[in-house]
Amino acid sequence: MDNTIPISAKTKIFCVIGHPISHSFSPLIHNYWFKNLGLDSKYIALNVDPNQLKQATKGLKALNIEGFNVTLPHKEKIIKLIDNVDSLAQDIGAVNTVKNENGYLIGRNTDAIGGKQALLDAGCQIENQNVLVLGAGGAAKAICFALVDVIDNLVIANRTLKRATILAIELMKKKDIKIKVINIFAPTLKKELENIDLLINTTPIGIYPNMGQSPISKDVLHNDLFIFDLVYNPLETQLLKDATSIGCKSLGGLDMLINQGALAFEWWTNKKPNINGIKTKIIEIFGKN
Ligand code: NAP
Repeated sequence: MDNTIPISAKTKIFCVIGHPISHSFSPLIHNYWFKNLGLDSKYIALNVDPNQLKQATKGLKALNIEGFNVTLPHKEKIIKLIDNVDSLAQDIGAVNTVKNENGYLIGRNTDAIGGKQALLDAGCQIENQNVLVLGAGGAAKAICFALVDVIDNLVIANRTLKRATILAIELMKKKDIKIKVINIFAPTLKKELENIDLLINTTPIGIYPNMGQSPISKDVLHNDLFIFDLVYNPLETQLLKDATSIGCKSLGGLDMLINQGALAFEWWTNKKPNINGIKTKIIEIFGKN
């Protein structure tokens, strides 16, 4: 039986804003949950040019949109355009979820908690681990801030050293921890990896349509590593294939994506969404690429 509620004057509207946006899984995820829970709500994707972000945010507020997600490239710039940001999102310097509370726009970062929870659910040990993060952009910031309190050592490997250094300085303000910064292409990466327990890719290398690419050569991996690739399209990246072939435990980006969405959904609706149901649905649709 189709239990879709037709759109009416009472339908609550949610959305994601980004540029580009057509690749986003968020409408699929949230509309699945709205339908699953019989909620009279709809979620759409809006392509917002960076030059129009201020006007778009004012517009979303004026139109009484219930809540929205924020994705590339707006996660940092949105902070100055909304009314309040929680302390984790402030530390990270990025917001991916906004709730409209009586005309007051409040921002959070659910990527951080969603990513950490995905690792824990996959049985990855985090406490007292030596971690190497590839990349130093928005996703790296979220994952580093989520993990920094419990890990022992951190190496950040990025193409732009300055960006990695700034992130390391921000993290060291939060915790007394050793953080090394290296170039992602440095020959010393192999040596660094010898002491690493958890390797996290936060770069987009290997994302559709460049599916044969990996951010790190298979030769430098070892089978004591747990490898977490934040890329979720394709579901199994080249890095994850390499990890499996040498016997590493690994995790792709889908669980983090669903977790961050679930945290946003629960905040907006006060209802727990069906995480396993949407995971099965996405694997059904995208599993073959
Ligand atoms: P971002 O802020 O643009 O950062 C991208 C990072 O990757 C930067 O450190 C950049 O280095 C590096 N990079 C990009 N292209 C590179 C290349 N060709 N070679 C070497 N390094 C390169 O993007 P983001 O928001 O962090 O997102 C990054 C990835 O994470 C995307 O694939 C996104 O889909 C994924 N993500 C997944 C989830 C999830 O829920 N699974 C959530 C958020 C993001 P420079 O500093 O040198 O530019």
